[in-house]
Amino acid sequence: MPELPEVETVVRELKAYLPGKKIKRISVYWHKTFVNECTQKAEGQTVHSLSRRGKYIIINLDRSALIVHLRMTGQLLFQQTAETTINAFHVRTALHFDDGSRLLFNDARKFGRIYHVVSVNKRLQKVGIDAMDAQFSATDFYRMLQSRKMNSKAFLLSQQFVAGMGNIYVDESLFRAGIHPASVSSKISRTDAEKLFKVIRRVLTFAIQNMGSTISDYRDANGKVGNAQKFFYVYQQQGKPCVKCGTIIKKIKLAGRGTHFCPECQRLFI
Ligand SMILES: [Zn+2]
Repeated sequence: MPELPEVETVVRELKAYLPGKKIKRISVYWHKTFVNECTQKAEGQTVHSLSRRGKYIIINLDRSALIVHLRMTGQLLFQQTAETTINAFHVRTALHFDDGSRLLFNDARKFGRIYHVVSVNKRLQKVGIDAMDAQFSATDFYRMLQSRKMNSKAFLLSQQFVAGMGNIYVDESLFRAGIHPASVSSKISRTDAEKLFKVIRRVLTFAIQNMGSTISDYRDANGKVGNAQKFFYVYQQQGKPCVKCGTIIKKIKLAGRGTHFCPECQRLFI
């Protein structure tokens, strides 16, 4: 599933193509993909900017916005002309622009969604602060952790506190911060919370610089794969020795997800 770095990579690439383009027509090939919550018509409007919040891609139009969630296998692929070769066998929705270019929403598993809304904030009101938000501080993060008694894995996966991380970057961040994924959020010390905050920023920044991770279906807007998966220390590394101490990396189920960690290096706060 694409997480913040993969989504950010898509947004950065689409910024080079979409602003200024006028939507001529929208073709919906799988009805559930396109959720219209708006009385405005998207057709005839121009894309003025792109942004992101957590795992949501926001395409701002003149009077409304399209919010895209890629979910499991969604891809946004830009096609300059109808002749541009592109591997898209599961196109669920296509935005046709008046200059002949297109934005294809390709999604094999069909869980992805495009919401057409007037208010982005209203649609995303339950989504927490973006993990990379410049306004977000280590102190805010510590206070958030203190306010809940959840295991750290579930806390970081829940998008309502910090938005953007999924299974990969949660496991990698907790490992690098030396915090056991089952640690109770409110029991994590201030020093460790600040360390985790810095680590999260570093891990996400590094992954963005490497154009995200390609596990299965993720591709950027040009259909290219990412590189960050080459730098995983624990994610899908179960049975291999820990890079820090040599202990075998374990995989358990936590918060309903496969969770990877080093039983030796990661301290359990309970
Ligand atoms: Zn270790």
